Amino acid sequence: MATTPAVALFRKLPSLYQRCSWTVNKFDRRSYTFVVSRGPIPEQLEAGILYVNPQGSRCHHLCACGCGERVILPLNNIEWALEGTDARPSLHPSVGNWNLKCKSHYVLGQGRVQWRRRYSEAEIEVVRRRDLKPYQRRPWTQRVGDWVKRLVAFLRDE
Ligand SMILES: [Zn+2]
Repeated sequence: MATTPAVALFRKLPSLYQRCSWTVNKFDRRSYTFVVSRGPIPEQLEAGILYVNPQGSRCHHLCACGCGERVILPLNNIEWALEGTDARPSLHPSVGNWNLKCKSHYVLGQGRVQWRRRYSEAEIEVVRRRDLKPYQRRPWTQRVGDWVKRLVAFLRDE
């Protein structure tokens, strides 16, 4: 039976696919996994590493999309929580880099990056407002305390 061009093309598909995926992988600069490195935060960050400062209050990493931007996340009970082991860290909640050009959005679970949908501008605005709330919801006693402290500082300067 003679080989028609269509059949020939069909037979070539697997190798074509391999070649295409090789090209895609070559240019894919995304991080797929992260591990934790503890200690002073270096000037130059490496992709795929979550740098946690000695106090454990902040972590830096290069955006998982590969854009090369540094992402700084505060670690505390109202912002991000770092869980799991240093070899397979998890971050809660998701990382939404709305301030970066790439606007990437991902979850780090057990050391693996899981991509999340890119939010629209309107959705980003809603998230921004929601994120601000824990700070605005300080108890009135604390607010009055701060006000008194500021007043005392002001009177001392006089
Ligand atoms: Zn990015």
